[in-house]
Amino acid sequence: MARMNHRISVVVLIVIMGFGTRAYVTARPEMQGKVNIQPFNYEGVQLLDGRLKHQFEQVKDFYLALRANDILKVFREHAGLRAPGKELGGAFGTSQLGQWLSAFARMYRVTGDTAIRDKAVYLMDEWAKTISKNETLDYRHYTYDKMVGGLVDMYEYIGNKSALEYLAKITDWAENNLDRSNPYALPTEWYTLSENLYRAYELTGDKRYFDFAKVWEYTDYWGIFAKGESIFQDILKTNPKHESYHAYSHVNTLSGAAMAYKVTGERHYLDTIVNAYQFLQKTQCYATGGYGPEEQLVVADGLPETLIGICRGKSNVDVRFHFETSCGSWAAFKLSRYLMMFTGQAQYGDWIERLIYNGVGAMVPMNDYGMIMYGSKYHLYGAQKSLFTVWFCCQGTLPINVAEYHNIIYFHDRENLYVNLFVPSKVQWNGPDGMITVVQETFFPEKDKVYLHVQSKVPSRFGLKFRVPLWARDGVKVRINDVISETATIPGKWATIERKWSGDDTVMLQFNLTPRIEPLPGYISPVAVLCGPVVMVASTARESEDSIPAEGDLRFPADWLMSEDQKISYSASPSMKAPIDRSRQLHTNQVLRPFYDIKEGEYYRMYFESARSMFILPGELVFHGNWSSDGLVRYAQEPGSHFEGKFKGTLVVWEGLRWEDAGIAEVSIDGKKVAEADQYGYTGVYVPRLDQREVSFRWSLSGLKGGEHTIKVTILPNKNPASHGTKINVIRLVAYP
Ligand SMILES: [Zn+2]
Repeated sequence: MARMNHRISVVVLIVIMGFGTRAYVTARPEMQGKVNIQPFNYEGVQLLDGRLKHQFEQVKDFYLALRANDILKVFREHAGLRAPGKELGGAFGTSQLGQWLSAFARMYRVTGDTAIRDKAVYLMDEWAKTISKNETLDYRHYTYDKMVGGLVDMYEYIGNKSALEYLAKITDWAENNLDRSNPYALPTEWYTLSENLYRAYELTGDKRYFDFAKVWEYTDYWGIFAKGESIFQDILKTNPKHESYHAYSHVNTLSGAAMAYKVTGERHYLDTIVNAYQFLQKTQCYATGGYGPEEQLVVADGLPETLIGICRGKSNVDVRFHFETSCGSWAAFKLSRYLMMFTGQAQYGDWIERLIYNGVGAMVPMNDYGMIMYGSKYHLYGAQKSLFTVWFCCQGTLPINVAEYHNIIYFHDRENLYVNLFVPSKVQWNGPDGMITVVQETFFPEKDKVYLHVQSKVPSRFGLKFRVPLWARDGVKVRINDVISETATIPGKWATIERKWSGDDTVMLQFNLTPRIEPLPGYISPVAVLCGPVVMVASTARESEDSIPAEGDLRFPADWLMSEDQKISYSASPSMKAPIDRSRQLHTNQVLRPFYDIKEGEYYRMYFESARSMFILPGELVFHGNWSSDGLVRYAQEPGSHFEGKFKGTLVVWEGLRWEDAGIAEVSIDGKKVAEADQYGYTGVYVPRLDQREVSFRWSLSGLKGGEHTIKVTILPNKNPASHGTKINVIRLVAYP
């Protein structure tokens, strides 16, 4: 939820009684989206001792300890009922109760813990008593959406039938009162309603929910992805009054398209989420899997700018944080899970894995005031984890996230069990020949081996599949009962072990966790350092022994970063303003540690600039044609005009600005054409703290032979259809050794 909408009036849900009970309509659309693989839906999966289990238990205990009277106080007060207890504060009273019901229902399904179930039922029934007539209606899309989700979950995972009555009641109200004019986005996020309403329809068969879900489809936005077009090019058509896309809700809405596909089978919904996923991975995600600096989707080439304005020396340190951690992880988990279900493909599991370790899984615990690590910070010159924002949206998604851990580790179809995540856990699966138990024993990602103990009462034939992560470029070593297996392991695919299992077999997987560098998608620099899926950050060694990873597997001396062959160095801009405590700046005892290991208030650096050999400024370039200059920028527009420059190195970057009247240029190196580069970019996106109206253009080519090269950039007559002109500009070239 956007933080600018911090003051939300307390919700009172009123239902005008007397509509009568609606008969369930059982007719369903004929088509349904094909589901290739199924999650376990919170049943039969247990986390075993490890990071995820610790976080799950900690969050579960924290939320269970909240007093029911405190939670219910605002609802009771507004209904004129006796309201003991102390108000939680913050913006509580709107969305979170619905999401907490979801979380409790799913946690109950996972653990069988009746204390969670009883608390959820009590909260729901007491909340329902505050639904009364004759009061002013003040109930909005966002809250309705989350309560629909909560009630659907109370029915699905606890089997509570009252939940459906309450759902019908609030929907009576919503059908008559929710504003359907669909103004853009904030603050109601109406465009996320489809998912839970389609779930309500799927569960109950009541066509009413199908029809109401349809009302909230975000056709304009989904359709851009379905057609494979740019959401920024058409932003003013989609959102005439707003010039930005709120990140979390614009990923969350995609789960509405996913459910629309599931219940209708219409292909364009699937195209929407497949293309959106690619768009997000290629243009929006940091190494952590996080996205949405200042809660915004960013324009082309906008991502490096958010770490710092490298190109023009302009600092964007106004960006307070880069990822709305809990809500953002939740939207990504759901989108990835739906994609895995529909396509059966392993590649979508990678985003889940990143966020499990570096997103919600790297959050520090909430404090007793209800403050949460709302945003994750990736600033180039350093950052700290901090708690802020009392009782708001992320406090709604955090407990659902940790419950969701149980739903994204394993998948299945009739013949195969799929292992998506490598975490200590246990799954029971009703396989083709009977019940199978798989116990995952591992210290991954801090150790490189994963043991899958496959157990059953009788021998059984089925396929055991595991995801080969995209980062596992060397594949995965597989041993079955200590014998080397020739199982094919292709990054981004499922590896399959199909055999007759004896009832007591062990598969051992071994990953290469050697540290590697990973730039932002499509760029040369800055880079992050990863071991497997884990983002490593530079920080000081921890004082206490117990917080250091066992045997120091993940700890490296600071000079590793400085070494010649890794081509990374610390950035030399000590005067740059950065949101850090300067007194704790880099010291000689720096080590690389997992981002998830960083505690509240500790200083760390996640991104590093590559060591470059030189800048080539316009004064050192040779210009042919009619070039003008405007500050740092040189530009021309006549086709045929060109500039040339010499550089030494294996990698070159041409930096400039994206303009709405920019054209296309031919780039050649040493007399050979290597590319046509399109410098067009939409420059109308602006929110405070994240100015996307002046965005860098960065074209790069790597893999050249060492030594001196000549680059030539020539303006072509053709242009991007969206562009108003053929201008080409340059600020400088950057060469890397
Ligand atoms: Zn949030």
